[in-house]
Amino acid sequence: MKDSFSQLAGRRQFAMEYLYARLFTHNPELRSLFPLSMAETRERTFLMLASLIDNLDRQETVARQLGDLGQAHRKFGVKDSHYPAFFDSLLATVAYLSGTAWTAGLSEAWQAVLGYFAATMKAAAAADATRQPAWWIGEIVQHDQRTPTIAVLTIRPDRPFDYRPGQYLSLQVPKWPRVWRKYSIANAPRDNGLIDLHVRAVPGGMVSTALVSHSGTGDTVTLSAAHGDLTVPADPERDVVCVAGGTGLAPVKAIAEAIVGAGRPGRRRAVTLYVGARRGSDLYDIRDLATLRLAYPALTLVQVAESDHENSVLTGRLPDVVLTHPSFRNTEVYVAGPAGLVSAGTRALRARVPADRIHHDPLDLLRAASHPSLPGIPAD
Ligand SMILES: Cc1cc2nc3c(=O)[nH]c(=O)nc-3n(C[C@H](O)[C@H](O)[C@H](O)COP(=O)(O)OP(=O)(O)OC[C@H]3O[C@@H](n4cnc5c(N)ncnc54)[C@H](O)[C@@H]3O)c2cc1C
Repeated sequence: MKDSFSQLAGRRQFAMEYLYARLFTHNPELRSLFPLSMAETRERTFLMLASLIDNLDRQETVARQLGDLGQAHRKFGVKDSHYPAFFDSLLATVAYLSGTAWTAGLSEAWQAVLGYFAATMKAAAAADATRQPAWWIGEIVQHDQRTPTIAVLTIRPDRPFDYRPGQYLSLQVPKWPRVWRKYSIANAPRDNGLIDLHVRAVPGGMVSTALVSHSGTGDTVTLSAAHGDLTVPADPERDVVCVAGGTGLAPVKAIAEAIVGAGRPGRRRAVTLYVGARRGSDLYDIRDLATLRLAYPALTLVQVAESDHENSVLTGRLPDVVLTHPSFRNTEVYVAGPAGLVSAGTRALRARVPADRIHHDPLDLLRAASHPSLPGIPAD
């Protein structure tokens, strides 16, 4: 199977075009589930398949990947009846590209594996449906333009939305149907259910620009379930150091808020928040962070800008400043922000902090977010 997939991988662009052309020709009703431009979808699908086939002999990994996919596909409106259509097209694509190497035995093996893929995804989707909706409608109740390119949006989901501090959600704006982007939730869960997102408009960015520059109070967005493994360390004895570049502040602010709000008796765990930006004027959350610090004296706030003329902040590169932290003993470290910062930050920290104490969202996800055509994109 791996050999026949490599035939497909050798002509990945053609293969994915063939797959989707066949899918839509045989099932025209499915076209409306996909975005107008299919380039990103084709690339994501190829990478997802490559990863599944590569992991075929690691059953636990494949089962977990398929479970995540099944759950993530609920927000696209995928139903049980759609799975055979997709996997039939995939089978036809592999058969076509295998040419004379396609045998009855190979066909049987592929059918068995694709049957397992479909069954596992469907089971995960069904199990998820018993726990939560496929999506939520969120109303923007506040749109706070902090800088020309950064806005803090406060959103009210139409139904209870469960998440852990540090997780992200996926979001779709009405202007770009079926285009989903991930945003970290920037607050610990509140009694009123409101969710803050910190969004930076990237040049030419479809969803981020729509959110920052073309949305306002009263507009709605579609949200899908929270994901991600970043979360508050369970051991209350552990201190916390957070390193955040740009809107990477969002998940670590949620984690810091959760610690501040936990209010356990006894020793207060120390939280140090290193927040960095290119320029001091891009440090968009100074006021809120100062309020958080007033509420929790064990919180230390260090703001860093590569160049600064306006604010009283440290000047330098964030990873360099973090390395001057007095001690990482008994400390969990969280790094969040653009892929480059997370990668440079974790590399630098490894000299002083054991790898299992450094936490961040998966680098392949972060890289894929800034370069949608690069490898490494899993579910959506
Ligand atoms: C786990 C996770 C959490 C995230 N959390 C946040 C968050 O809290 N706040 C936030 O603002 N973003 C966050 N992102 C990034 C977000 O998901 C989008 O990738 C980003 O908003 C751009 O989407 P877009 O549709 O506007 O741009 P696209 O239309 O996807 O991209 C348009 C162009 O901009 C380029 N581009 C895309 N992203 C970047 C970038 N970051 N820097 C430079 N160029 C870029 C692309 O290469 C492309 O050429 C997160 C991403 C991940 C994976």
